[in-house]
Amino acid sequence: MFIAGEFTGSERQRTTVTSPAAGEPVDTVPEATVADVDAAVDAAGGAFDAWRNTRASRRGELLHRGARRVLAHREELARLLTAEHGKTLREAGLEIHRFVTTLEHYAGLARELRGSHVPGLDHNTYGLIVRRPLGVVAAIVAWNFPTLLLANKVAPAIVAGNTVVAKPAPTTPLTTLRIAELLHEGGVPAGVLNVVCGGAEVGEALVRHPAVRKVAFTGTTATGERVAAAAAAGAKRVALELSGSDPFIVCEDADLDAAASAASVGRFFNAGQSCLAVKRVYCAEEALDTFLQRLLDRVRKLTVGPPTMGGTVLGPLHTEALRDRLERQLADGLESGGELLVGGERPQHAELAGGWYFDATVVSRPAHDSRLATEEVLGPVLPVWAVASLDEAMARANASPFGLGSSIWTRDLDAATYAAGRLEAGYTWINCPPRLYEQLPFGGIGASGFGKEHGHEALDQYTDSKSVVVRHRPPRAAPAS
Ligand code: NAD
Repeated sequence: MFIAGEFTGSERQRTTVTSPAAGEPVDTVPEATVADVDAAVDAAGGAFDAWRNTRASRRGELLHRGARRVLAHREELARLLTAEHGKTLREAGLEIHRFVTTLEHYAGLARELRGSHVPGLDHNTYGLIVRRPLGVVAAIVAWNFPTLLLANKVAPAIVAGNTVVAKPAPTTPLTTLRIAELLHEGGVPAGVLNVVCGGAEVGEALVRHPAVRKVAFTGTTATGERVAAAAAAGAKRVALELSGSDPFIVCEDADLDAAASAASVGRFFNAGQSCLAVKRVYCAEEALDTFLQRLLDRVRKLTVGPPTMGGTVLGPLHTEALRDRLERQLADGLESGGELLVGGERPQHAELAGGWYFDATVVSRPAHDSRLATEEVLGPVLPVWAVASLDEAMARANASPFGLGSSIWTRDLDAATYAAGRLEAGYTWINCPPRLYEQLPFGGIGASGFGKEHGHEALDQYTDSKSVVVRHRPPRAAPAS
């Protein structure tokens, strides 16, 4: 663990981090006790006053220096991330790069923190709306993008003057710990970012800690509901970034080649284990054959292999349990009438036998009430359905309880505008692959949660507004000349 600028934690009570590529131990980390959680929150609480009173531009500068230090260690961090997560070295490198750009984005916004002035409230009276940091923030994140999810919370939180206790997923603590150390070496003061390791119990102790003022959570909908319930005691703020099942609508007039490319990248990036991903394709009946042919041409070329091997596109799934669940969801989709178009199996190469690999898979027309349609599918399996009209596509897209991302491909501006207004999701991409931009707020609705990351909105989420009313003497009349 990393508390008050130092590594700490029990030598005896430790958790083993296992490589998803080989099923072998990578390292061990200490399991936090309740006393460790208290120590981390105390460290963050102790650092808060000095940090909030540090000039905002200086906070930005220190964050920027920390980000540069992380960038200088990009290769080392990418290898560590690949070892603990299983994502390919290329994707791990991209993630570390994105970590850095997110920190730099918010470091730049440090000079943009501001409130507002409301004139003429009353005679000789004006109002100020000042924004203030919240205090200690608990940042609890999932395993699928360990560093990116951390950046989305830590960067706006600390630039706004808060201090943080982060809890990575129990299977991916290593990169987070090293990053906390590098940020500290780069100048982020002791106690501003602390890291505790452990699972649900540690997370819950953090959420329940009375000195925590906000819980920023990324994970499943089921856990998010528990976190929100626990945070209700003490009336803590909560932001929930939860599961998703993003629809991807392809109209008859779409650029089918570009749509197929976006569907392939959007589904199979990170071995299909992204929250925002192409998870349900609804394609116009007339375009289906051509779209599928172009999609399958691409999917057949996706190389499954060890994540450290050049040329690998699909590494292993993160855990055996995830692969088991994926196989059950796929079996359900096939039993419901779905047709397997490609994949559907564990790869047979002997060198992959120790890891949790699964082939890139496309299934045509499973039942609309099958698990592939109704649940979040977190792995390399893409279901595709034909639809008779845009209205049917929209109805099917919106039938899910989730509302994270959504896409539509069409050359018809009216259809795109109609869809963007009605798709129940926090993001809609029109004719472009799903991708997040630091400038645009991101977050779900419905079972995908609430609260925004990215954009100026994220800074608002880590500050509170306070109204100040000022009455002054009437202005004196100008002296007669
Ligand atoms: P999870 O809910 O099992 O765990 C998430 C984190 O919460 C982990 O750190 C875990 O240890 C901790 N935790 C578990 N129980 C807790 C409790 N009772 N109190 C406090 N903390 C607790 O989720 P996961 O399997 O790690 O993550 C995968 C999920 O995350 C997927 O559904 C994915 O879509 C979602 N996700 C969402 C986004 C988004 O931005 N919406 C981004 C990435 C991942």
